[in-house]
Amino acid sequence: MDLGVDIKSIIAEIDNASNLNELYQLKVKYLGKKGIISQLNKNLKDIEQEKRVEFGKKIHELRVLFEEKYEEKENFLKNEGRKQKLASENIDITLAGFPFKFGSLHPLTRVYNEIVDIFTAMGFEVATGPEIESDFYNFEALNIPKAHPARDMQDTFYITDEILLRTHTSPVQIRTMLAQEPPVKIIAPGKVYRCDHDVTHTPMFHQVEGLLVDEKVTFGDLKGTLTLFIKRLFGDDVPVRFRPSFFPFTEPSAEVDMGCVICGSKGCRVCKNTGWLEILGCGMVHPNVFKSVNYDFTKYRGFAFGMGIERITMLKYGINDLRLFFENNVKFLGQF
Ligand SMILES: [Zn+2]
Repeated sequence: MDLGVDIKSIIAEIDNASNLNELYQLKVKYLGKKGIISQLNKNLKDIEQEKRVEFGKKIHELRVLFEEKYEEKENFLKNEGRKQKLASENIDITLAGFPFKFGSLHPLTRVYNEIVDIFTAMGFEVATGPEIESDFYNFEALNIPKAHPARDMQDTFYITDEILLRTHTSPVQIRTMLAQEPPVKIIAPGKVYRCDHDVTHTPMFHQVEGLLVDEKVTFGDLKGTLTLFIKRLFGDDVPVRFRPSFFPFTEPSAEVDMGCVICGSKGCRVCKNTGWLEILGCGMVHPNVFKSVNYDFTKYRGFAFGMGIERITMLKYGINDLRLFFENNVKFLGQF
């Protein structure tokens, strides 16, 4: 007996479905509420009793066959879709990547690191201290009592009468000596503050100071250490000279010049036609400083020195405006 449907054409219809939507339409067509197979089931009650069982069996077989083919095709189409998706999202791993952009260290950081490297190679340790200081550490203990004329040399940011922004990193020397007995061999790099702002001054700038205290330390040790430092930083050929000077916390005191690296000591605008550039200040630690930290000044000698990192960086790279360091201009900073 015949169901009145062509099984082959149903299978062909399923085979020809080219996407999941077309396939789903076939499900509606055959198995939906008004679908062909559902309709056959509804007609079952009109069939003669003796043929009804056989008819029902055939409908069931058709339904099972349809569902089998349908599932097969559905899996195929889903898989196909996945393959297509993968193909369209294909990544060519042989393509060259996008280059990373590396930043560069700030010129002050570079020179700061270089200075620290040179001194630590000579056995100095790095010491640090607070940027907000008391008058005692910043002035008093360094042989600069109140009303001392040297206080006028440093335009200080006062917070109260006793609290201030440190004007040099020398307070770190006092703190270190109060905390330990000699020998002391430190450098103190860091930020310092002075109330000053023009082409050659900024309210905040960087210093490195050094201190060496031991028995039998001489001015010769000071000269040797600083000469070696300058030659390491600017090259072996650069001439170095020491000139007598005055600082309240050292006696004797000296300023150190090096041959002008801009003109090769011939004379130019930067060195004011002298062929020399002042690069740091130094001297033998004043006995009054030792007294303020309870060091026996009859037993110990020491030398101290200090320099501005901005100035050294300007000389090293031929930079003529201090303010460039703090404007964060990427074109300027990218050159280093
Ligand atoms: Zn010069």
